Amino acid sequence: MDEFELIRRYFTRSANKVSLGIGDDCALLSPRSGYELAVSTDMLVAGRHFFPDTDPEALGWKTLAVNLSDLAAMGAEPLAFTLALALPEANEDWLEKFSRGLFTCAEAHNCDLIGGDTTRGPLNLCVTIFGEVPQGRAILRSGARISDEVWVSGTLGDAALGLRMLQGFTVIDKATDCAAALHALQRPTPRIALGMALRGIATAMLDISDGLLGDLDHILSASEVGVVIQVDALPLSAYLTTQAEALRLQCTLAGGDDYELCFTAPASMHTQVELAARQSGIKVTHIGHITAVSTLALVNDNGAPYALPADLELKAYNHFAR
Ligand code: ADP
Ligand code: MG
Repeated sequence: MDEFELIRRYFTRSANKVSLGIGDDCALLSPRSGYELAVSTDMLVAGRHFFPDTDPEALGWKTLAVNLSDLAAMGAEPLAFTLALALPEANEDWLEKFSRGLFTCAEAHNCDLIGGDTTRGPLNLCVTIFGEVPQGRAILRSGARISDEVWVSGTLGDAALGLRMLQGFTVIDKATDCAAALHALQRPTPRIALGMALRGIATAMLDISDGLLGDLDHILSASEVGVVIQVDALPLSAYLTTQAEALRLQCTLAGGDDYELCFTAPASMHTQVELAARQSGIKVTHIGHITAVSTLALVNDNGAPYALPADLELKAYNHFAR
């Protein structure tokens, strides 16, 4: 199987939402008038973002899902994506499963594969995604205002738990709990419908990929504000709720790969936020509020500073941290 046969067999499907898909030197996009194109790239590197023996079908899903999550975080609607692929070999079984997972995710979110590049090399998966958002209505990181409420979608920390389990750092007894943690790590659900429903409601938003504290910090810097987070309000899965405090905090505050949305909205929009969540079928939780002092403060139920366990070092993932 040569390069072109591989592309034809595993990655060529009809594209519905673009003027021209795979097969020429470029694809052609025609966004609706009055819309802006939202563009994002995310790369997954074997041994860095996933174990080389990861189930290829789950990997196909996740490769696209993490990119869709970036569109969700802007309030954008998926349009199309390209796939740059480096493969050590043309393994038919792997390609069959990988492309199945990729297209399952693509079809679930009505997003066309419109091109890419295929080369031999260490396993590396890179998607560039294109979405549409009405002119001027994208939700940026820079819009948070003092006294806005801070919200997150879904539950936090389950993916980090799954990773710890695969690394052998954490043992989970029950098979159903193991499966849930693995699912969170390998099959994140991009919160597209929620992101779109929050246009005109959320003032700032991002998706949580490197841990809540680290990612929230990006909103604080971009908006030049601070935040108070109520630690006991953080939404946890049933399993994490029962775990020791240090593990719980590590996973929810600094665990990566959640792909949940974190956003701010004025308190006057509280009911609209809940309505948007109900309409998109995704739970949201109010976890704190924006402040004028440019710090990130953790508090307990009574508003007193939350005493973190002394041996706990919370750090967001950073590839070039020293
Ligand atoms: P070029 O040499 O002009 O860059 P290629 O020979 O690399 O084109 O690719 C041929 C066509 O197949 C192009 O339309 C390209 O976008 C598409 N393509 C290549 N690799 C992939 C892939 N992994 N997934 C989807 N489309 C691909
Ligand atoms: Mg090429």
